[in-house]
Amino acid sequence: MKVLIIAEHKNGQLSEPTREILGLSLGQAEVHAVAVGEGGESLVGSLGERGVAKVHLINSPALTSYTGESLGQALGQFIQQLAPDVVLAAHTPQGRDLAPRLAAALDAALATDCIQVSLDGGQVTARRSVYAGKATAEVEFTDDSLKVITVRPRTVNPPEPDATRSAEVTEVSVELPGQKTALKEIIVSDNVRPDVTEAAIIVTGGRSLGSAENFSIIENFADSIGAAVGSSRAAVDAGYRPYRDQVGQTGKVVSPQVYIACGVSGAIQHLAGMRTSKHIVAINTDPDAPIFHLADYGIVGDLFEVVPQLTEAAKKRNGS
Ligand SMILES: Cc1cc2nc3c(=O)[nH]c(=O)nc-3n(C[C@H](O)[C@H](O)[C@H](O)COP(=O)(O)OP(=O)(O)OC[C@H]3O[C@@H](n4cnc5c(N)ncnc54)[C@H](O)[C@@H]3O)c2cc1C
Repeated sequence: MKVLIIAEHKNGQLSEPTREILGLSLGQAEVHAVAVGEGGESLVGSLGERGVAKVHLINSPALTSYTGESLGQALGQFIQQLAPDVVLAAHTPQGRDLAPRLAAALDAALATDCIQVSLDGGQVTARRSVYAGKATAEVEFTDDSLKVITVRPRTVNPPEPDATRSAEVTEVSVELPGQKTALKEIIVSDNVRPDVTEAAIIVTGGRSLGSAENFSIIENFADSIGAAVGSSRAAVDAGYRPYRDQVGQTGKVVSPQVYIACGVSGAIQHLAGMRTSKHIVAINTDPDAPIFHLADYGIVGDLFEVVPQLTEAAKKRNGS
């Protein structure tokens, strides 16, 4: 079986969600990776050390500031040449944009946001979280068509590199005529903290914060432990936080190592976005709040007292 991994990268560094995909148990598969755009050659070492046999580099002036359209076209052409059985991409904004484009263009089977993928004995199966995380669906592919699968970040442990391994490199040229879209400008976010989808630790505040200003309590705590700031939808709707921070069914789906919910009730739509976090901590005045059913650690208390104390303790530990 031939597996192709779409390697995401930034400033010459392999993205963490791509590194995680390399930790999937791919059995005896022949593992290829493709890197698009400038800087792809600097990934070859990391990919080879993590089990990729061949790295394909696609570059073209049309891909310098690529759009979903040009990237999809470039990868579509290359996938047709390589003819893999499975294409794996991270379920990141880029992967979410690309996977359906590729599946439609190549008439492939599609399974997105998978939390487990298995390639045992040539049979590919994937698991996806459904019904707001209340159940898991097992997806089986019923014919030999190409399978395009995206993997939810932070659900697989990245493998340790093995310096004795290396990958072959090939350069691939593509034709990108007649683009219908062009990238005009990238407006850099003013968020100085990590994004909730990338952070290992998230501190989330809910409606109970009462104002945008009071979120400074959450921000200070997050900064003291290097965390991202998340928000419930109620806090976003009230104008306390921007939508980009919203966690949940209609926000972002996250799986950090530690999720600290401060004054968040734990509505099912919120749980849908953070249920797969490795360790969940809840701080809530109501001992019957639903979030405590999911939490590994709970503090029944007023966040306005508890959170500043945690911040002080973290600062002391940091020596500041
Ligand atoms: C279609 C749909 C999609 C939705 N999508 C999302 C989504 O993506 N994300 C999301 O979050 N919600 C979503 N919701 C909304 C969801 O149902 C809840 O209304 C929302 O999550 C509640 O936010 P909250 O926990 O901040 O507020 P509340 O439910 O009001 O809870 C506040 C909590 O704070 C506690 N509290 C109060 N004061 C303090 C204090 N001083 N210290 C500590 N604890 C305190 C209370 O005991 C309570 O548990 C969606 C709803 C629908 C219908």
